[in-house]
Amino acid sequence: MIRAILYLIAVVLAISVIRSIVGIFSKGFADLVNPTPPSSGPRTRKPRVPPTEALKKDPVCGTFIAPATAVVQLVNGENVYFCSKVCRDRYQSQAGR
Ligand SMILES: [Zn+2]
Repeated sequence: MIRAILYLIAVVLAISVIRSIVGIFSKGFADLVNPTPPSSGPRTRKPRVPPTEALKKDPVCGTFIAPATAVVQLVNGENVYFCSKVCRDRYQSQAGR
């Protein structure tokens, strides 16, 4: 009878030890999969591509262009962005009519 109780205690101990070992391994595995969580890592990197709201729409062909690469033309005190000079010229010819 005492032997059975000792056996049960040994099994419970073994299970708890195995569970703690598995927990350590799964934690280490999670660190491997996710080495730099966004909450703790330094936020120095910024996306190079500007967000979609920063893009300007070409009124001639409807293409969205980044203002840095766009052809800008001042129309009625407002900057209008074009994908190319061809579109800008077309817009000006349409506006002149
Ligand atoms: Zn265009």
